[in-house]
Amino acid sequence: MANARQGKSAGVGVAPNELRHAIGGRELAGRSGRFGPVYDPATGEVAALVPFASDEEVDEAIAAAAAAFPGWAATPPVRRARVLFRYKELLEGHAQEIVERITREHGKTLADARGELARGIEVVEFACGIPHLLKGEYSDQVGTGVDSFSLRQPLGVCAGITPFNFPVMVPMWMFPLAIACGNTFVLKPSERDPSPSLLLESLFREAGLPEGCFNVVHGDKEAVDRLLADPRVAGVSFVGSTAIAEYVYATGAAAGKRVQALGGAKNHMVVAPDADLDQAVEALLGAAYGSAGERCMAISVAVAVGAVADALVEKLEQRVRALRVAPGTEPGAEMGPLITPAHLQRVVSYIESGVAEGARLVVDGRAARFGNGRGFFLGGCLFDHVTPDMRIYREEIFGPVLSVVRVPDLEAAIALINRNAYANGTALFTADGGAAREFLRRIQAGMVGINVSIPVPMAFHSFGGWKRSIFGDHAVHGPDGVRFYTRLKTVSMRWPGAGLARAEFIMPTAR
Ligand code: NAD
Repeated sequence: MANARQGKSAGVGVAPNELRHAIGGRELAGRSGRFGPVYDPATGEVAALVPFASDEEVDEAIAAAAAAFPGWAATPPVRRARVLFRYKELLEGHAQEIVERITREHGKTLADARGELARGIEVVEFACGIPHLLKGEYSDQVGTGVDSFSLRQPLGVCAGITPFNFPVMVPMWMFPLAIACGNTFVLKPSERDPSPSLLLESLFREAGLPEGCFNVVHGDKEAVDRLLADPRVAGVSFVGSTAIAEYVYATGAAAGKRVQALGGAKNHMVVAPDADLDQAVEALLGAAYGSAGERCMAISVAVAVGAVADALVEKLEQRVRALRVAPGTEPGAEMGPLITPAHLQRVVSYIESGVAEGARLVVDGRAARFGNGRGFFLGGCLFDHVTPDMRIYREEIFGPVLSVVRVPDLEAAIALINRNAYANGTALFTADGGAAREFLRRIQAGMVGINVSIPVPMAFHSFGGWKRSIFGDHAVHGPDGVRFYTRLKTVSMRWPGAGLARAEFIMPTAR
């Protein structure tokens, strides 16, 4: 979207407010002249205009972060942790405001937005333990008079590039831990729902974070490319679609940066014949249609094993028809709108392709109308008899569309999942412990649920997929997050009087 001001003059609702960048502790109006629209997806109106940063503006954010780095890196971890403790309190105190911003720009229900924020705050809680997390290892007397120890040091300026579907949680997978580790940070949030990140920034400042340690710069590909090219940026965390993740990883790594790039997904949930069917159906409902299916851990494929298929589809049909789709602010809403008109159109085109390829569309949510009729709503959709060659199976739809694939046995379910290019999360519903053990050991995916449909690890574990769902060696938050945002240094230390009388020309060995 080159310039959304045209949308403003074309009379798309009230004059929307122009968002600002947050650089070096100051809120700055965009100077590039390029803007994008930020919609309220429940009404279809443009809620705000987001400035797209020029190279110069990105440079300013990196310069602010680079200037703040030496002081912040030298701040004792326990003092950094105290800022994080205050930040957690402020986030909790402003929860309602944050949650309302999420719902307004993303469209998810307020209850879901509250859950997203809670998951973000948990990362802050984990990061509060940074003095402990940064403790190294020590070996006394590795050789006579020689001790050895390790320490972890920050990378420098780190950048985060985040997707629209979790405008608070995904940025918070990154910056609280990066900053706790002693790095400074430049966040480039999704241009589709950028407002919550500005509140996250101002509250961190209020908590006592020094100027320049955390900067928010808005933009599109141009801003991302500038961050990837700048030699002052040492680490890049990306979350988004697989095609862009692969590009960000390759470009950042070629420029010598440490990069973690998490991509898209196609998550399967297997329902075994011995599963508690009602429990499985309820779990599928939430996992497939919660947040309108716009989750990287959403279940988009239900794998029905053997005789369970007919009963599963029958129960699902009833529940999908009864889904309460409404603006996210409405009490009792279970699912809100999609993010943009373009995305709605894309999801609809997948439904058309599923029908054209011969899948049975059991529930068609396309005709349903919600709210004022101008929001980007789609009712829940359910396909049966989906096969692996169909586009709706192969590609990530990122909408409220669940496909049922029928397989004869658990062996076939495992083979199906392991053939898929994506490998973020997967789940098995069963009452058989032996089968569950076999499944979790052989399945190729980064996160596995046994009778848990969305196995998103807590903040003190690490989150990440396998195969085309991640590029780079580190998952996010938890112990892997600390490893990603620090460099390991191992020291061998000897003091005068402890030996070394003359030069040695052999490989040193312990004596
Ligand atoms: P996206 O890839 O379109 O955008 C992600 C970020 O990349 C945004 O900040 C965007 O501005 C930037 N970007 C867009 N085009 C770019 C380009 N050509 N070059 C450089 N940067 C560019 O993703 P999205 O639509 O915002 O989010 C949905 C996707 O994110 C889905 O594929 C979903 O599975 C994935 N996702 C993955 C995880 C995970 O943990 N694996 C979590 C959340 C979302």
